[in-house]
Amino acid sequence: MGTLTRRSLLKSGLAAVGAGTVAMMGRPSSAEAATTQKVGKAQTFDAVIVGAGCAGLACAIEVHDQGGKPVVLEKMGRPSGNAIFALGSVCVTGTRLQKEQGIDDDSVEQFYQDMMKVSLQRGDPELTRFYAENSAEAFHWLVDKIGVKFKKIIKAPYPRFGRIHRIDGEGITGGGMLIRKLLAAAKARGIPVLYHTKAVELLTNLKMEVTGVRALTPEGLKDFNAKGGVLIASGGFSANREMLTMYMGGWAANLATRGSPYVTGENIALTKPLYAQLVHMDQFHGGPIVAATHVNPADILNAGYGIIVSMQGQRVIDEASTYVAKAKTLPRVTKENRAFQICDSNSKNPQLAGMIKKYTHLNSPFYQAETLEELAKLTDIPAEALIKTVNEYNDALKNNAPAQLNPPNTLKTPYAVETAPYYAFPFEGGMTATFGGPKINVRAEVVNTEQQTIPGLYAAGNAAGGLFYNDYIGGCQLGGATIFGRVAAKEMVARSKKA
Ligand SMILES: Cc1cc2nc3c(=O)[nH]c(=O)nc-3n(C[C@H](O)[C@H](O)[C@H](O)COP(=O)(O)OP(=O)(O)OC[C@H]3O[C@@H](n4cnc5c(N)ncnc54)[C@H](O)[C@@H]3O)c2cc1C
Repeated sequence: MGTLTRRSLLKSGLAAVGAGTVAMMGRPSSAEAATTQKVGKAQTFDAVIVGAGCAGLACAIEVHDQGGKPVVLEKMGRPSGNAIFALGSVCVTGTRLQKEQGIDDDSVEQFYQDMMKVSLQRGDPELTRFYAENSAEAFHWLVDKIGVKFKKIIKAPYPRFGRIHRIDGEGITGGGMLIRKLLAAAKARGIPVLYHTKAVELLTNLKMEVTGVRALTPEGLKDFNAKGGVLIASGGFSANREMLTMYMGGWAANLATRGSPYVTGENIALTKPLYAQLVHMDQFHGGPIVAATHVNPADILNAGYGIIVSMQGQRVIDEASTYVAKAKTLPRVTKENRAFQICDSNSKNPQLAGMIKKYTHLNSPFYQAETLEELAKLTDIPAEALIKTVNEYNDALKNNAPAQLNPPNTLKTPYAVETAPYYAFPFEGGMTATFGGPKINVRAEVVNTEQQTIPGLYAAGNAAGGLFYNDYIGGCQLGGATIFGRVAAKEMVARSKKA
């Protein structure tokens, strides 16, 4: 592999791709991302890792620490996957931090049961148990080996409880900070991270064992041989509309992308030719988002105040449903996949001031008016329809019958929309991450359609299928990427030693 310089990348026109999109998300500094990368003459590694996200970098570091020689191939000019968008919650149990804070009302068994419940008992039980059993160790590895700092735990309702360990982003997203720390740890170990190097094909021998990766580099196609194996850590397919349509239906393809525009389904494209068993392909995590500015309005939607109206001025969703359900429903019940959270100035609303601050800070349009007529004008909602909807809602509350509305409002304590000024916060339904991909076992080996493992092929993080179904306990995705990325590392080093 030759030398990749900032200049050659700029010449190829690739360095600028996506710069704007990830600007606010705490991506690694350009100095970290664009340092000259040398791989030397060797083209054979113990492990070839596709994708410099959480799973890929954790794997590379573990390969190195187990005595192996890894290489990370990253198609963009810097880590550009979902990890840098992540808030930075890591869901684990049995940690030192929990002990220090006197949190002792949880167990691995309870964690396992809750994960299975959230997945409607359809998450792979073995992967789920492995996660629950190894979560504390992964957390301590992040702290002790990688130097990740975590904030004080704040207890939350079911199913998070005292399990959410939030990374201190120090001004950027927790996920962005995690990637910075992982990159720094990789750099300190001399691990090559090759940017603008896109895996386009898996190499196999005559037994169809995976022996390496063919990648497109600025100099052209190059082969990277892997003695121990290849880890697919390229994220999911949330930004690939064709795959979303194929596996979930057109409505899902209309969701806004909450995360990276560069997680485009290479987990499927690379592994399908080897007959990898693709599982949970119609499953994903959704959430509300303002697509243009990446403001996350979940807090105001969860606050329990106000109503959700379409561009036509009709209520379209039960305001009591979860933010995930709201996001997943919106593209089905509106043509535009867009609605407004309409709030009044009820002084009890705990999220109103914070949301005004957030939209303002991130330069994301929201609307404030002294009357509903004025609000309608600002938002382009037909005034007559908006006023009628608000009146119907307030009347239903007076008659104690909000559940009779269509759609029903089943908030335990609904509040009338009656105190000026009125606010309208626009949002769209969005996709956070896809859950589907090649099925893995607890050794992170990819399983084929005949339930056999594909020798030399591993997957982890959003690239892998099996762990999540329906929903996930916040923080389990970064946790899963770390746990199974490192498992794959140990397997690949062991396999390489035997080769
Ligand atoms: C808004 C948002 C908030 C979130 N918050 C949390 C949270 O708080 N806690 C949590 O647990 N999870 C959270 N998540 C989910 C979490 O970010 C992901 O699960 C996690 O980042 C997955 O990591 P990964 O390593 O699998 O993939 P990614 O971080 O997506 O990285 C994949 C990498 O592979 C590269 N790549 C893709 N194809 C190729 C190819 N062919 N060749 C080379 N490179 C390639 C991409 O460019 C990218 O850099 C959040 C997600 C979003 C969108």
